[in-house]
Amino acid sequence: MLEPIIGLEVHAELETQSKMFCACPVVDTTQAEPNTAVCPVCAGMPGALPVVNRRAVEYGLRVALALGCEINLASIFARKNYFYPDLPKGYQISQYEQPLARNGRLVISTSQGERVIRIRLVHLEEDTGKLTHVGQAGPAYTLVDLNRAGIPLLEIVTEPDFRTGEEVRGYAQSLRSILRYLGVNSGDLQKGVLRIEPNVSLRPAGQTALGVKVEIKNLNSFRALERGVAYEIQRQSDLLQRGERVRQETVGWDEAREVTFTQRVKEGDEDYHYFPDPDLPPLVIEAAWAEEIRAALPELPAAKSLRFREQYGLNDYDAGLLTAEREVADYFEQAVAAAPEAAPKMVANWITGELFGLLNQAGTSLRECRVPPSALASLVGLVSRGEINQNSAKSVLGEMFTTGQSAESIVASRGLRQVSDTAAIAALVQKALAENPAQVAAYFGGKEAVAQWLFGQVMRAAKGQANPQVVRAELTRQLAERKD
Ligand code: ADP
Ligand code: MG
Ligand code: ZN
Repeated sequence: MLEPIIGLEVHAELETQSKMFCACPVVDTTQAEPNTAVCPVCAGMPGALPVVNRRAVEYGLRVALALGCEINLASIFARKNYFYPDLPKGYQISQYEQPLARNGRLVISTSQGERVIRIRLVHLEEDTGKLTHVGQAGPAYTLVDLNRAGIPLLEIVTEPDFRTGEEVRGYAQSLRSILRYLGVNSGDLQKGVLRIEPNVSLRPAGQTALGVKVEIKNLNSFRALERGVAYEIQRQSDLLQRGERVRQETVGWDEAREVTFTQRVKEGDEDYHYFPDPDLPPLVIEAAWAEEIRAALPELPAAKSLRFREQYGLNDYDAGLLTAEREVADYFEQAVAAAPEAAPKMVANWITGELFGLLNQAGTSLRECRVPPSALASLVGLVSRGEINQNSAKSVLGEMFTTGQSAESIVASRGLRQVSDTAAIAALVQKALAENPAQVAAYFGGKEAVAQWLFGQVMRAAKGQANPQVVRAELTRQLAERKD
């Protein structure tokens, strides 16, 4: 039996205004004109000196504290030396022996229950530039864009605590959600601002020593992440079962063919000749500042989800769905507050069912949505008071979504209001019983199914707009009265 062991390295660009060590703006590198956000510092000109971006450190601390890490009050920037055309200085400023923070944890939920993933370290570094290879049969030449060079990058490394692709995906999704809650990263995998690299190895079950690992790069979706891990587990397992060895290397993920391919045979740390960057003093963090940042952390998804379960009586699934995004959670709470008579579960269902459906169809986000929480609350109020039925409410929401009109005005203009007024319904029931004496007699003779037919008569007389519960109750009451 072979046991898969997986550890994750995540690189998250920090969405600060300016870069890690210079005043160049952090731009959307998939949109901006190449080489328009570049200065002598991030272009690696000789003699240009780096200055640490305080906001980037603050963002890094937010993440480290949210992950329960111990903060290193004096961390060291180190040079990681290697030559590559997207790295104009010939080294990347990173951290090595003294990272910003260590020893955190993230609890994730999986189909097998909760899992604790230990965070080994969180460190600050700078991103590299971007290369575009041009040419059909192999690159004829390569273009360099340094807009990305020097964008603050946070590396978050776990212990090798994962055993399945599902756990890896769960961790990546919940980390992404935390980064978004903290406002430090958009979580856009397609744009490459969040990059997830699993390290995969196998070992015979029961053995403590780890096997040889392979690192997978360029996974730009959660699906690719899960598939890539599964593929690598299978490939290594086949090799080992044939008695062959796994080679330590870095592989890429071929999205179209769904296979991994060798990129480079991995160098060891000694190849990078790490040493403390003489241009940068130790990064000293005042304990009081870290404490201030900790105190200002927002309620995070796991805590919010727990509170939603307790406060609103939601199940795990709904609470998880509503708290994955802060925006959705806020929307839900505002709608619940505006609809005090409706059950929170009912509000939750309208959001995760109908509203999400409409947003999906339209390809828009909650932020652009024309139905504010108070408007949804009014609609849910109409349903919960029995003033309109479920089907009418769905079509009303559709109209609210496209026109931005209120539920009340749509209900009024389309004449959808359901009759719940007991007096009006009592009159309709009385009329139906008076007009159908033969059926009433049959009912008392033992044909109980006739009650359903009488119910249908009343509903028809009300043009389908009577509240069915009220009609049923009134019919039962009047039949019982006649019997006495
Ligand atoms: P490297 O120096 O090659 O980057 P590290 O020791 O820094 O390797 O670990 C990088 C990531 O790989 C971490 O998340 C770690 O938990 C994980 N890892 C280390 N060794 C293994 C292994 N044998 N199998 C699976 N994951 C591993
Ligand atoms: Mg490493
Ligand atoms: Zn710059």
